[in-house]
Amino acid sequence: MATPKIVLFYVFTPLPDPEAVRLWQHTLAQSLGLKGRVIVSKDGINATLGGDIDEVKAYVRATKSYEPFRKADIKWSNGQGDDFPRLSVKVRPELVTFGTTDEITVTTDGVQGGGVHLGPGALHKLLDERGDEVVFFDGRNAMEAQIGKFRDAIVPDTETTRDFIAEIESGKYDDLKDKPVVTYCTGGIRCEVLSVLMKNRGFDEVYQLEGGIVRYGETFGNTGYWDGSLYVFDKRMHVEFGEGAESIGHCVECGTRTPEFVNCANLECRKQYLRCAECTAAGLQPECTDCAEDPALAEAAAG
Ligand SMILES: [Zn+2]
Ligand SMILES: [Zn+2]
Repeated sequence: MATPKIVLFYVFTPLPDPEAVRLWQHTLAQSLGLKGRVIVSKDGINATLGGDIDEVKAYVRATKSYEPFRKADIKWSNGQGDDFPRLSVKVRPELVTFGTTDEITVTTDGVQGGGVHLGPGALHKLLDERGDEVVFFDGRNAMEAQIGKFRDAIVPDTETTRDFIAEIESGKYDDLKDKPVVTYCTGGIRCEVLSVLMKNRGFDEVYQLEGGIVRYGETFGNTGYWDGSLYVFDKRMHVEFGEGAESIGHCVECGTRTPEFVNCANLECRKQYLRCAECTAAGLQPECTDCAEDPALAEAAAG
């Protein structure tokens, strides 16, 4: 592949016939040899696709030619080639699975009642004006934050996006309800929904980082408030914003800083945990710490 590229975008807009959009998107992406994941729902589209630059450009042009997707904010990044195992284009009840289909209202202007969108520059302005009062709230799964997050961000205890409702209703974060809270996620889509859910539950001043960490990293690299690596859901596993970025995560075996996630060798578990390249090469710590510390599991693994 000459110049592998990955595009990430979403559009919240009412789609009366998601199945027709699914079929069109599948035919389009397949005809261009793209791989990755596209989710279509009655509320819009969420796509992450990779391929050679010319084909990806052709895909973007065709997708934007459909009026409801004309304003799609496309985030480009460099791939490594063959970044996704296959092409998957599906219709789902929700673009991101919070389990709250009834709570979200989508019009041609997008999600209604969400947090105020702040681009990277506007975010810095808010931080300049309000300083330490501002709280970052991570809208991703807790695991993703192990290798990178905004400075002093609150990382909710979430294994999947479905866990957010219980977290924000738990009372743990009630002290944030009268503070300026900035939610952030990879490309911004999870915050579109999360910020509505938070506002509906009494968080008064909610902002969402427009374009997500991807756009912020493009703008400020490692010179702003972001620390570490960005977890991504493709073969790259993580991306850094320029030279000098260092993961904030540590190898569970030796403690070295590393952004490398591996899967637990216990097939019943398969949890991802951090292990550095050296320890991987040496065959150390084949299981996650939970499995390694569980005597029954250790016995089973020993045969
Ligand atoms: Zn190590
Ligand atoms: Zn495990």
